[in-house]
Amino acid sequence: MKLESLELTGFKSFAQKTKFSFHEGLTEIVGPNGSGKSNIIEAIRWVLGEKSAKNLRGEKMPDIIFSGSAGHNSLNRAIVKLNFDNSDHYINIDYTELSIAREIFKNGESNYYINNKICRLKDINNLFMDSGIGQGSFSIISQGNVENIFNSKPEDRRYIVETLAGIYKYKNQKQETNAK
Ligand code: ATP
Ligand code: MG
Repeated sequence: MKLESLELTGFKSFAQKTKFSFHEGLTEIVGPNGSGKSNIIEAIRWVLGEKSAKNLRGEKMPDIIFSGSAGHNSLNRAIVKLNFDNSDHYINIDYTELSIAREIFKNGESNYYINNKICRLKDINNLFMDSGIGQGSFSIISQGNVENIFNSKPEDRRYIVETLAGIYKYKNQKQETNAK
């Protein structure tokens, strides 16, 4: 599986639709202070289900919607879409192209999409669980997180190891079954 592209419309400083395409190998994002580098990473965390506005440097979730700048009015909606090439079927679905998206309106109303069809966050979480990509995975290490891993309690470190080893998914399913 491969992350092909990221599309942002109305997300933070990206007022107009902006598409980033990722190619083979390493991608670096460079730019002056305040040019939006961190906003790009936050967009990825957001579309994967980030629930905390504070983790995205806001007070409430609609704060991520473009709030206007010189020459640009504020917007009412933000949408972020991640496009994956799933031709190796690493993610267990029939499709070779996979997209997930999340949108939010100024009133706080929000939707998630898998391949342009409305879904629940749970569906996205299930899709990515144990893939190393989803919410709470360790593919995005923010500043300060490396230290947190070293300083965490043994139970929390165990969770990290189990997630990385791919067995957390089964523990989670077992817990859900037992709860029924
Ligand atoms: P640095 O190199 O300092 O880390 P950066 O490239 O990571 O900078 P970001 O923090 O991603 O920059 O971008 C900050 C910019 O995004 C600021 O100019 C801020 O005004 C703008 N911004 C943040 N939220 C919004 C919003 N809702 N609407 C419009 N602009 C926003
Ligand atoms: Mg930054």
